Amino acid sequence: MGTIYAIANQKGGVGKTTTAVNVAACIAAAGYETLVVDVDPQGNATVGLGVDRDSAGVYEVLTGELPAAEAIRPTAIDHLSILVSTPDLAGATMELPRSAGSEMRLRDAIAPLREDFAFILLDCPPSLGPLTVNALVAADRVIVPVQTEYFALEGLAGLLDTLSLIQRELNPRLTVAGMLLTMHDARTKLAQDVEREVREHFPALVFDTVIPRNVRLGEAPSYGVPVIHHDPHCAGSEAYFELAKEVAARG
Ligand code: ADP
Ligand code: MG
Repeated sequence: MGTIYAIANQKGGVGKTTTAVNVAACIAAAGYETLVVDVDPQGNATVGLGVDRDSAGVYEVLTGELPAAEAIRPTAIDHLSILVSTPDLAGATMELPRSAGSEMRLRDAIAPLREDFAFILLDCPPSLGPLTVNALVAADRVIVPVQTEYFALEGLAGLLDTLSLIQRELNPRLTVAGMLLTMHDARTKLAQDVEREVREHFPALVFDTVIPRNVRLGEAPSYGVPVIHHDPHCAGSEAYFELAKEVAARG
């Protein structure tokens, strides 16, 4: 039975998509069947994996037009598949709240996929709207990327409150896999201070692995490949390999 991870933070640009794509690629490289579900209408994970946004995907799965198993598409990478984000998905943010029980749509639709995939990663949009709620209801664990910058802690308390609420009301299984420090620049005192502060605030909750700021990580999406297929030995590749091991070890 596969495990479902949501990669969530209502802030944009903190490294959610980079983490979803690259952790998925590292797990797939280890030979596990892995699925990325692009829950963000912006479709960055879809494009970052070199897949077109023109076929059916998460939108059709949420509306029930298509069973999830039929909407899955392969990527160019062994053991890595995707449920794409099409431009239609933006409409789901308005349509979902109109129907009762809509928070469970994604959970119910992708549950059968646990048979086929060892790891399912849900890349969330930068909001706590209906799509993110669907992802958090569907997930077993949540990974929270935190950009290592001055306002890092801002919004984290609110996010944790939302997670507790979802856990209480909608998904008692949900736990925090960990917070992940991203775009860390070890040369700056600021990054060191922010890291210390986040670890002090949330002891035991922060992954040991820290993702460095790395040019290769930023440019890989423009080639439509995860970083380990762009430059397997760069610091970004090494960090995401370490993180994938840590995620798997935390169970
Ligand atoms: P989110 O999904 O949270 O909005 P992204 O993963 O898309 O954030 O990252 C935002 C931008 O920063 C993207 O252009 C991405 O390529 C870049 N980026 C993410 N992580 C790193 C990193 N560790 N080093 C350099 N650039 C990064
Ligand atoms: Mg994103």
